[in-house]
Amino acid sequence: MSQVQRITVLGATGSIGLSTLDVIARHPERYQVFALTGYSRLDELLALCLRHRPAYAVVPDARSASRLRDGLAAAGCDCEVLEGEAGLCQVACASEVDAVMAAIVGAAGLRPTLAAVRAGKKVLLANKEALVMSGALFMQAVRDSGAVLLPIDSEHNAIFQCLPGDYSRGLAQVGVRRILLTASGGPFRETSAGALRDVTPEQACAHPNWSMGRKISVDSASMMNKGLELIEACWLFDAAPSIVEVVVHPQSVIHSLVDYVDGSVLAQLGNPDMRTPIANALAWPQRIDSGVAPLDLFAIARLDFQAPDEQRFPCLRLARAAAEAGNSAPAVLNAANEVAVEAFLQGRIRFPEIASMIEQVLEQEPVVALASLEAVFAADQRAREHAQAWLRRHGR
Ligand code: NAD
Ligand code: MG
Repeated sequence: MSQVQRITVLGATGSIGLSTLDVIARHPERYQVFALTGYSRLDELLALCLRHRPAYAVVPDARSASRLRDGLAAAGCDCEVLEGEAGLCQVACASEVDAVMAAIVGAAGLRPTLAAVRAGKKVLLANKEALVMSGALFMQAVRDSGAVLLPIDSEHNAIFQCLPGDYSRGLAQVGVRRILLTASGGPFRETSAGALRDVTPEQACAHPNWSMGRKISVDSASMMNKGLELIEACWLFDAAPSIVEVVVHPQSVIHSLVDYVDGSVLAQLGNPDMRTPIANALAWPQRIDSGVAPLDLFAIARLDFQAPDEQRFPCLRLARAAAEAGNSAPAVLNAANEVAVEAFLQGRIRFPEIASMIEQVLEQEPVVALASLEAVFAADQRAREHAQAWLRRHGR
């Protein structure tokens, strides 16, 4: 690895992408931006290119590419513009790249993230949907290529920090009894089941502790985010679903815990700011300044814990069942959820119907083995078609 690390940021215009660029900009002697990618916010992408001077920028299509090229030329910025999924994969596996931040949201991130893994890069994984969809294939690709996979999700980054360096020998071998995944409970933690029928997308996206993209905000409100994270934890740490417990912790100060057989419980604490896990993964195994304020325990004063309520938040139960069924079930769960969240954001279904739709799709879809990436995308596609059919029957 060269002295200065060259970084590709997939999903640079999003919440995680911007936090990543904030950390990178604090350490110009360590990091250089190699490529930035964006999807819809072209003006923001242009401004990021002018500020961080990447060698490449990637946009979805020819029209966006020509607009971005015009903007770059007018500002005298020498940056090559690529298009589409092929462009994303190219900047994810280019030989000049040392590390890839995988921060595209949803299934759209799977191919480029996997391209980075297969090229043996250091991969900073925020795009949990990619791992949920293709878990076994993804982890096999990590082993085959020798890629270094580092979790960005704050919970998984916390667990990673609380595990010993040789945990890949097996969690039981290193004395782990349980993984305790903390959840804030989201904006509707105290909302009654009846009132959940009338909550709006704006309320769902107003998270009490974290500022995030809209899709993950809705996932946090439905607790599907924790369900996806349960599946993510099983793959990242080779854990059985039965040893992963969800603990509602409204303050979001403890980011997760590891319970050992001798009774020790290790936790990682910090302010709820994604720049901490991002800096941790970027510099690992070293530590660098992230710009996050020191934790003020006196101001926090107390930490609360509750059991999750799977009656009001059935997505958690559905995700646990999918984790246990394995094979195609998590990919089906994820695809149905992506369709449901989009429909909720568009006002086509009510909040509790997110879980109803996913449950119906899971019941209809057979659980099949996923031996190839094509099989993963086929399961994803079938689940989306089922979800769309459900929407035509029940949506507005
Ligand atoms: P966001 O919506 O703010 O940003 C998403 C990024 O993906 C944007 O750059 C967008 O341009 C790009 N994108 C969207 N659709 C695309 C497509 N079809 N093709 C290519 N690019 C596309 O989302 P976010 O909150 O930054 O989350 C990104 C990922 O990180 C998600 O998987 C999320 O679950 C995960 N994550 C986010 C947080 C957080 O605090 N925001 C925390 C943990 C994990
Ligand atoms: Mg998380």
